[in-house]
Amino acid sequence: MKLDIDAFNKKRAAAFNQHKNILKKLSKGQTLLCEQCNKPLQLDLNGKDKNKGLVSCVKGCTSIELELG
Ligand SMILES: [Zn+2]
Repeated sequence: MKLDIDAFNKKRAAAFNQHKNILKKLSKGQTLLCEQCNKPLQLDLNGKDKNKGLVSCVKGCTSIELELG
């Protein structure tokens, strides 16, 4: 099996930028809505890993791990 490293890296970069934007908006106190259920997303910084935050909605359809470091 051949891995498409280039596509993988692009996907990773896009996800990384998206996460950075989410973090920026949430840290400014802006409200972001879940794309699935339109409930506000919450940032949880009290996870086990201190370098990661968890962004999730009440229903759980959105659950994104963000790198904080
Ligand atoms: Zn949701």
